[in-house]
Amino acid sequence: MVVTIDSTQQNMSTGRVIEDTVTAARLIELPLFKGECSESIEWLLEKMEERWLQPEDILLQPGDHNTQLFLILDGKIRVELDNSSEGVISILSTGECVGEISVLDGQPTSAYVIAHEPCRLLVIEREDIWKLIDNSHAVAKNLLFMLSSRIRNNNSNLSNSIQLQRHYEQNARTDILTGLYNRRWNDEMLPRLIERCRIGEVTMGLLMIDIDHFKQYNDSYGHQAGDEALRATGKMLLSHLRPNDSAVRFGGEEFLLLLPSTEKENVVMVAERLCQKMSQMKIVDQHGEKLPSITISVGAAIMNRDDTVDSLIAAADKALYRAKEMGRDRVVVSER
Ligand code: GH3
Ligand code: MG
Ligand code: MG
Repeated sequence: MVVTIDSTQQNMSTGRVIEDTVTAARLIELPLFKGECSESIEWLLEKMEERWLQPEDILLQPGDHNTQLFLILDGKIRVELDNSSEGVISILSTGECVGEISVLDGQPTSAYVIAHEPCRLLVIEREDIWKLIDNSHAVAKNLLFMLSSRIRNNNSNLSNSIQLQRHYEQNARTDILTGLYNRRWNDEMLPRLIERCRIGEVTMGLLMIDIDHFKQYNDSYGHQAGDEALRATGKMLLSHLRPNDSAVRFGGEEFLLLLPSTEKENVVMVAERLCQKMSQMKIVDQHGEKLPSITISVGAAIMNRDDTVDSLIAAADKALYRAKEMGRDRVVVSER
């Protein structure tokens, strides 16, 4: 094994001496090499490097072109979205590895990877990871297992953190008239949601909803009636949300529905159902008198891997425009 201690690493290791040499026997005790025999990974020992980190040293950050997998021999590593304590996705410890997703898919790193405590890591280069996968069923299986656990963990974090965010931001981030999230909430949360979906390797649906001929509704029945229609719309949207979905009042009579981890088929189903329910929705004025019903037009977009907030909203907006053009009271799905 090549043990590199340059001046930075000496500083980072604060004079600690490497106590033991990593042997093939030690390696096969780690989850990545479980079921592998020590002779068949002897070659790897010659090629691996060792790396030491001090707490808060940044190993990887978003945008890095990472070509190395880091196996944790000792210590803990923190993975976080936005370099803040609220953005922590997971804490990894001895035996776990980090960097494997960017090594395997060749894409830039999407999260911060930071030493949580003093860490000792083994560094395996991309070409050696692929060589291991080619030569060893055991390593390939172990890597698949580790990736599956990672995805499951990300998904559950995604769901937990959305719920937590909802709780904290409810007051400052809601629209008074409808009780839905406001534009400010959306500006903060949509980029995070998109990023989390990307990291969790799931897609998300975005519905842009606009009430049809609402100016005319206001003109005919009064602004107060218009407000009641908006309130009823908010209630209707909320009653259709699943636990991880969010509804936003995006503008005057425009709404967004964010549907994380939802495939196209279900996004379309939700949109169609909403459109139908909305036209049947009862609206009453402040005295309990029945008001005419309203219809909505919906533009639906399904998140691509490369989507940004702007591109996803633009796709839904374009589909909404099409729905209006085609006569309103309908759903149009963005074809990109
Ligand atoms: P379209 O079908 O093309 O969407 O036509 P529209 O009349 O709905 O669209 P337009 O953008 O011309 O009008 C939107 C109207 O929504 C105008 C505005 O008065 C009304 N509006 C916006 N915010 C509120 C609000 O908070 N309360 C009430 N009552 N009306 C509002
Ligand atoms: Mg409108
Ligand atoms: Mg509008």
